[in-house]
Amino acid sequence: MQLGNAFFTQLKPTPLPDQFWGSTSAEVSKLIGLSPDWEQDEQNLKILSGNAVLENKPAYSTIYSGHQFGVWAGQLGDGRAIHLGTVQHDDQTFEIQLKGAGKTPYSRMGDGRAVLRSSIREFLCSEAMAGLGIPTTRALAITHSTAPVLREKLETASVVTRVAPSFIRFGHFEHFASNQQYDQLAQLADFVIETQYPHLKDGEDPYLELLKEVISKSADLVAKWQAVGFCHGVLNTDNMSIIGLSLDYGPFSFIDATDLKFICNHSDSAGRYSYLNQPNVFHWNLVRLAEALLPLIAASDDEAVIDAKVEILKEILFAFPKKYEQFYQEAMRLKLGLPQVENALVEELVLLLDRNKVDYTFFFRALCNVVDRPSIQTISVVKDLFLDHQGFDRWLQKYLSYIPSEQASTIAAQMRRHNPKYILRQYLAQEVIEKAEQGDFSLLEKLQTCLKKPFDEQPEFSEFARLPPDWAAQISVSCSS
Ligand code: AMP
Ligand code: MG
Ligand code: MG
Repeated sequence: MQLGNAFFTQLKPTPLPDQFWGSTSAEVSKLIGLSPDWEQDEQNLKILSGNAVLENKPAYSTIYSGHQFGVWAGQLGDGRAIHLGTVQHDDQTFEIQLKGAGKTPYSRMGDGRAVLRSSIREFLCSEAMAGLGIPTTRALAITHSTAPVLREKLETASVVTRVAPSFIRFGHFEHFASNQQYDQLAQLADFVIETQYPHLKDGEDPYLELLKEVISKSADLVAKWQAVGFCHGVLNTDNMSIIGLSLDYGPFSFIDATDLKFICNHSDSAGRYSYLNQPNVFHWNLVRLAEALLPLIAASDDEAVIDAKVEILKEILFAFPKKYEQFYQEAMRLKLGLPQVENALVEELVLLLDRNKVDYTFFFRALCNVVDRPSIQTISVVKDLFLDHQGFDRWLQKYLSYIPSEQASTIAAQMRRHNPKYILRQYLAQEVIEKAEQGDFSLLEKLQTCLKKPFDEQPEFSEFARLPPDWAAQISVSCSS
């Protein structure tokens, strides 16, 4: 890491004993330029289970702080994440990070470990998000072991290897700002600009431009989450990526039956991180980032200059909801195959889906068939999802009036590129986990393969596109991981 000692602690991972491969991602291994037979190399299993480190690259964990559930939490840091270093491939630089490879100076009360259950969820979701075209950290591999780890019950240890251009979080900036370490704050911002936003380097006001870009990327990201029905669950500022990636998969969930007030994290009793509140929380988190960057953006002895900068910042932040709405409406336009954005039509639909608790993913995919061939058969598949048939009929009539019928099949084909047939439903992850905990990783492999191409028909995987069973609604996920 080019940054100095203030930013990290060098350390060695704690070896996972009796390590096995759980699963690997061929796509990610290609992305970072590994040879096709990389898994056969025992040394790679050793590295990705914390039993060895990369040659000539000291491993390290970074320090950050953050706001958790709206409250300043002070210093946190990589409590169980260890960076192995970077690799370069095709002019891109990737950081390689182990999650669950043992204690670090930032572990606080934690054991530095991750259990197989949560590692599978992170692995699957990273790759599912990538398949959906949503910015995310990637997952190269899961390694695991029979070593016991205590959570609510006794589980087993595993390590996920994450890959991303950068794992830097809003919390890294908050850390140095809160400690008034402004030299380090500037160093961090310069590093992020240099490595992740190089086009901003020679601009007039790079720190302000950095904030603007993060706002824009974040608005786009959360709009994509809302459009696909993804709920993160723990949107603390330390889980917010400075490059707009989905980051830290914990108690996340894709929505089954539409419920705008859906809370996926059962520790979140107030619903701060409910589905509906995610854009507001992004906004709130961006204000925290702006506060952290303020000493850089408004670095001046002249009060008038400072005031002017603060006014600019306020304006930029006030514009977030509108920016978000633009991204969201555009995403919904693509889902619905509309020639132009239709806010009222979308709002009416979302409320209808919510009131009728309609399966979000299933609805949009089935709607593609209606647009393709509006017949009694295709329409009834969709209509039967609603209790309020009349309400749906009214909406559908209005909707179809926006679709030029002579282009319907082309539009339907485009819509299928924006409405996944397959998503990582909670119950699917649960089934995969139960099998893997018995030592059978074949279902994980199969689901992972399917989720790489969530928009394709893939009839061989149709079982994964079914509506969730009744027991799915009872699944409850906590922060415990
Ligand atoms: P999270 O809510 O998962 O984003 O984690 C919040 C903080 O707790 C981060 O600093 C994590 O590194 C840390 N943490 C979570 N689980 C553990 C664990 N098992 N051991 C050590 N630190 C942990
Ligand atoms: Mg985290
Ligand atoms: Mg977590």
